[in-house]
Amino acid sequence: MEIIFLGTSAGTPTKSRNVSATAVKKANSKLWSLIDCGEATQHQILHTKLSLNNLESIFITHVHGDHCYGLPGLLASASLAGRITPLTIIAPALIQDFVENTQRISKSSLSYKINFIHVEECKEYTDGNDFDVEFSELSHCVPSYAYTFCEKKIQGKLDIAKLQKDGIKAGPCWGEIHKGINQVLPDGRKINASDYILADRKPRRIIVCGDNDTPALLTNAAGSANVLIHEATYTEDVSLKVGKASQHSTAKTVAQFAEEVLINNLILTHFSPRYCRNKNSSPSIADIANEAANYYSGSLFLANDFDMYLLNKDGELQLLSNKNKYVGQ
Ligand SMILES: [Zn+2]
Ligand SMILES: [Zn+2]
Repeated sequence: MEIIFLGTSAGTPTKSRNVSATAVKKANSKLWSLIDCGEATQHQILHTKLSLNNLESIFITHVHGDHCYGLPGLLASASLAGRITPLTIIAPALIQDFVENTQRISKSSLSYKINFIHVEECKEYTDGNDFDVEFSELSHCVPSYAYTFCEKKIQGKLDIAKLQKDGIKAGPCWGEIHKGINQVLPDGRKINASDYILADRKPRRIIVCGDNDTPALLTNAAGSANVLIHEATYTEDVSLKVGKASQHSTAKTVAQFAEEVLINNLILTHFSPRYCRNKNSSPSIADIANEAANYYSGSLFLANDFDMYLLNKDGELQLLSNKNKYVGQ
């Protein structure tokens, strides 16, 4: 499974960070899903190998502009590029109003159909191919949600010892059994393919969160997850100055939660623009890294725009671009 960050800034963009957007896809697949679509997300996509034609679904976490203002432009560009495949948008119901009103006011229409799913009305979504997606309610000044991407198909190993024990000779039928196709053998025996496939690992799970001031709401979702992607808008000292109205998490509160639920990989994102990239400035993004590292002993990462991560089949997360990795102490 791959994760590509398209925007990692909170509220407003900076010169090096755009506002929220994250892509999730199966490795080696062209199809992908977008989680949040802040303004200019389509510009960010132009700098990647992702194509709007292969975009399967869009998940919006909440109605704040830094998470959805890029939606009308992105949808219009996909139409101008000739997209005809229907697109599913999973989002709060108000996002459908936002999209439809924008189209009405601008007198525009799309070349493809949008299937809206209102996140308030269901608990999960199954896409055509790769993932089941579960929804979790978060705490923010407007309804906000987390989406957990769960791997759907696991290619288990062929149980060769059992095949041989049952007298099923090696040949093309082994390949078909491995693909899950039931067989009728020359001697008339009917073979159930799933009896000969070893489920050698658990499905991988990645949680992508919207804005949230209470990480503990993710306790159930985090139980068997490999990766938690969560906002860390502030450090504790800045959060105290901003006050409770922020309704965001700090590096400390997210790190403490990730440590409690024993999640192996934590990626922080959605940083207040006040945190400079230059580690010698104050406050800097290093302050967020250092604060989180004090409370979390797993693999800690701070997302940058265009960072690409690979979650391998062993549940290990690798940052494929080679900078800005912060390892927990
Ligand atoms: Zn936000
Ligand atoms: Zn928000």
